[in-house]
Amino acid sequence: MSTNKNTHKIGANLPSPRITSIRNLSNSSLSPNQNGDSTISPHAVQDNDPPAPPIYIKNIANYSAFDSTLTSITGPNAFACKSSASHLIVQPSGRNSFNKIVSHLNETDASFHSCSPRFRRPYRVVIRNLHPSTLDTDISSSLDELGHHVKHIYNAKGKNKRPLPLFFVEIYSDEKNEDIHNIKPLLNTKVVIEKPHKKSYSRPQCHNCQEFGHTQNYCNHASRCVKCGAEHHTDECIKNPKSPAKCALCSGDHTANFRGCPVFKRAQKKIKRPSKSLPAKVPVSNHLSSPKSYAKATRIQDSSSDHISVILSNFITNFNSLITPLITLLSSVLNALISIASLSP
Ligand SMILES: [Zn+2]
Ligand SMILES: [Zn+2]
Ligand SMILES: [Zn+2]
Repeated sequence: MSTNKNTHKIGANLPSPRITSIRNLSNSSLSPNQNGDSTISPHAVQDNDPPAPPIYIKNIANYSAFDSTLTSITGPNAFACKSSASHLIVQPSGRNSFNKIVSHLNETDASFHSCSPRFRRPYRVVIRNLHPSTLDTDISSSLDELGHHVKHIYNAKGKNKRPLPLFFVEIYSDEKNEDIHNIKPLLNTKVVIEKPHKKSYSRPQCHNCQEFGHTQNYCNHASRCVKCGAEHHTDECIKNPKSPAKCALCSGDHTANFRGCPVFKRAQKKIKRPSKSLPAKVPVSNHLSSPKSYAKATRIQDSSSDHISVILSNFITNFNSLITPLITLLSSVLNALISIASLSP
């Protein structure tokens, strides 16, 4: 057996809990919901502090007891609960109640996870047009002077690892983060500071419990091994590499991070791509001059093809009404001829 070092499981006997209280936060304008799962508004916001992320708890045996314990710890109206098939979701009213609830859950070694509060994440930007040889320290200090405190700088590399005039910068979260986009000259260069493009919408997979939608930094569920599926952290696995893997999620013979796993596929399906914001209404006066959208153009085509089919069907009806009496006339003439022919000797 390995020596349990570096294990990420929070237990009563472990010195450093993985989920810690939220401290030193200032941004209060962001939504607490990180997961896209469920938004619950607490009955009333008691403490006027920044929003906190929801907490997902498993294996609650007695909700009534849990509710009254939590209420005695946090005071009234400090959280709102919602039950899903798999979790009890607790939405704290703010940072204070989040901290109280999390420390209670840590003390009782509850199986729970939460999400990284958005106001803790660094703000990421891309700086364009700066010469690739610019020193990180120069960029950092010049941004610092403008009130943006740099956490990390990375120069982007192109083909053949050639440095590009493109820097990825992480700045510490602050209410004034967005002001960084207004910076035009930096180090005597006319820069463009943009938000980086979002890569994908895939849900994160927790390296502790292997479930989707959260990361191990905010997970206090029982560890599941990515290789053998047993209840230990992957670092502690003693599985023979030659023996087949077992998935912690579906029990299939693959590792739990296998992209072909049916649970992975279902988890990715759940993600709804953010719907594009509806276009602003075009004023009536501009309507005719505005360029046609694809939908509009095809709609007009559809209606013109509808028009043609109406003409065609009218033509066929008219044609029928002309041809039918002619055929009737012709057949009666033929009948008359036949009868005359049969009468004649
Ligand atoms: Zn987890
Ligand atoms: Zn294992
Ligand atoms: Zn699987």
